[in-house]
Amino acid sequence: MVERQLRRRGISNERVLQAMEEVPRELFVPLELRGQAYRDGALRIGEGQTISQPWIVAAMTSLLDLSGDELVLEVGTGSGYGAAVLSRCCREVVTIERFASLADGARSVLRELGYANVEVRVGDGSKGAPDRAPFNGVSVTATAVGGPPIALLQQLAPDGVLVCPVRRGNDERLMRFHADGRSEAMVPVRFVPLVEGIADGA
Ligand code: SAH
Repeated sequence: MVERQLRRRGISNERVLQAMEEVPRELFVPLELRGQAYRDGALRIGEGQTISQPWIVAAMTSLLDLSGDELVLEVGTGSGYGAAVLSRCCREVVTIERFASLADGARSVLRELGYANVEVRVGDGSKGAPDRAPFNGVSVTATAVGGPPIALLQQLAPDGVLVCPVRRGNDERLMRFHADGRSEAMVPVRFVPLVEGIADGA
């Protein structure tokens, strides 16, 4: 996976490549899909949600430019795989998921792996985690319409960056936002939607 799907397709950040090598992706997918865990695509994880394609996880993590000492917020824990990869590249991760069932699953795999620098929360991630801000990096793994939630931009450290898929009309692409208002549009992507509010029963 690392050689064929990542290096050959432009992922060059060694910290990220090493994290992708280390984190056992099969533990984050449902039992019946374990055989497909390293496939070059997204997979269903329940509640109508997906674990992102390996290349997307690597690209988003690379865009945060982590050097190891950062506090990072992830919105959309899903399986917990993205948080696991982030946790190998920075000091601490706070990750928020609106489905309690997914958050519980992610928390238990992360605990099993001994990845103690990840805090999994249930809630509306579009509000961020004001009690832990500012964040050096924010990774939103669900598509926001128009632009990322203002609360998340407000929780960025002065040198922080926020990576988020954004839909404008029919165009959906990964974007990177800086605390000073600059932004860059990157590759076209397809994610599940960012939904405000927590899920029923959560
Ligand atoms: N990073 C995940 C990908 C999950 S898909 C992984 O590695 O598996 C995106 C996730 O975002 C879904 O689980 C969805 O339920 C969640 N989500 C969508 N809107 C949200 C919100 N407002 N707050 C928190 N989580 C949200």
